[in-house]
Amino acid sequence: MTVRVRIAPSPTGSPHVGTAYMGLFNYAFAKSHNGSFILRIEDTDQTRSRPEYEDGIFKSLKWIGLSWDEGPDKGGDFGPYRQSERTEIYQRHVESLLHNHKAYRCFCTAERLAEMRAYQRANKLAEGYDGYCRDMGQEESERRLKNKEPHVVRLMVPDLGECVMEDRLRGPICYDFKQIDDQVLIKSDGFPTYHLANVVDDHLMKVTHVIRGEEWVSSTPKHILLYQAFDWTLPEFIHLPLLLNPDGSKLSKRKNPTSVEYYRDAGFLPEALLNYLGLMSYSRPDQQEKFSLDQFVSDFNIDRVSLGGSIFDLQKLKWLNARYIRENYSPEQLWDQLSAWRLNSEYLSKMVPMMQNRLHTLGDLIPACAFLLATDVEHDPAILQSKNRDASTSAELLHTVLLALEDMECWEADLIKANIEKTASFHQIPIREITSMLFVAVSGMKVAPPLYQSMELLGKDMTRRRIQNAISVLGGLGKKKIKKLEEKWAAARHNSETISDKAVDNE
Ligand code: GLU
Repeated sequence: MTVRVRIAPSPTGSPHVGTAYMGLFNYAFAKSHNGSFILRIEDTDQTRSRPEYEDGIFKSLKWIGLSWDEGPDKGGDFGPYRQSERTEIYQRHVESLLHNHKAYRCFCTAERLAEMRAYQRANKLAEGYDGYCRDMGQEESERRLKNKEPHVVRLMVPDLGECVMEDRLRGPICYDFKQIDDQVLIKSDGFPTYHLANVVDDHLMKVTHVIRGEEWVSSTPKHILLYQAFDWTLPEFIHLPLLLNPDGSKLSKRKNPTSVEYYRDAGFLPEALLNYLGLMSYSRPDQQEKFSLDQFVSDFNIDRVSLGGSIFDLQKLKWLNARYIRENYSPEQLWDQLSAWRLNSEYLSKMVPMMQNRLHTLGDLIPACAFLLATDVEHDPAILQSKNRDASTSAELLHTVLLALEDMECWEADLIKANIEKTASFHQIPIREITSMLFVAVSGMKVAPPLYQSMELLGKDMTRRRIQNAISVLGGLGKKKIKKLEEKWAAARHNSETISDKAVDNE
């Protein structure tokens, strides 16, 4: 058997370190078995997928040192490797499921489903689709299809019995069919759900081992049912433990930087980050903590993965990074790394227009802009805190800035400014009150180059990290406060969107 494995990221945000972690383990598994490693882009979520995020996935995987044998940019015998280009394939497969009564069309409206859910909740019944359209006759289903009535296609999950999923690391896991919903396979927009597209592609791309994160364990019974419905052979399932925040929760950008781009911009070396990911839930037979990709592959054994999750510890990563800087580079080679990072004319020259009117001598440039070249900055609470507010309210203001920046897809000074303005009107305070704090949060200094351009140059992930650090220097924010603030923010955003939609309608 030729081993074929894949990673299947969705291009819906900054490239995640979790994708690089899965990439490393899939790559090592493939290479240690002389197999193939595939990169597939799962972009069936049309509202959230973006080509620039896809580009970010390619770039960050390449930066960290991983390469793939087949993928959207490389081609291969089993393409296309981008799901949005495979809709006709999914449609064809779902037709065969409908034909064999393994799936059915569901015409339930959103209102009916909401009523059903409310009833289930009120009566403390198990939640999930109640099978209303399951027994609809073929004729009625065809007639309503011809009438172009909106519908989805659902998987017919047996009422009784159980599904046993074998996971190589976890052994058998048993799921009662009663726990499994009649999963939607095709959405009303005609696009497949993750479950259908993922299974069809894994089968057609001849994937032999599905190595993915633990968060997909509960989806696997649905996948197994699909394999059975198609009468296909199952791949082997291997679910790797999650990367964790230091408090043991799932690694999240609220508590830790999660974007590969952050680590690049903060000055980590790609091989140190890759090496660090190889220590997550894994120990090599020789217990060495510093190793190259080739060494990792040479004695890789997936059965050495230990369950339980791995804390992604920035201090340990820094320690490893320092070893690489000390041990792997001559000064000349290190200079090459520094100039590939930010010590190059492309990056430095962007500081010049920001600073030209503020320089007394040329030598003033670098001290004033040092924060744009630093991994972190120190925050002095005395100058950070808003003059008119206590520490907690100041932290809330900064948290709102995080929320406002969160949804930005295009990181440009003008757009950053527009988003910060939204936070000021949300709190009904002068923008100056927010920007003066933000200056300090981003630069660590009271006087700094223009704020929005600095944020643009620093990058989104670095900026977020600085603001998060500033919030913790101010004493942090409790979960309840965060939740309340986020709800209020979401409601205000929703209202302003409805108002601006109305304005457009009226034009
Ligand atoms: N698209 C899924 C993700 O974003 C893929 C999960 C899998 O590997 O099956 O991670």
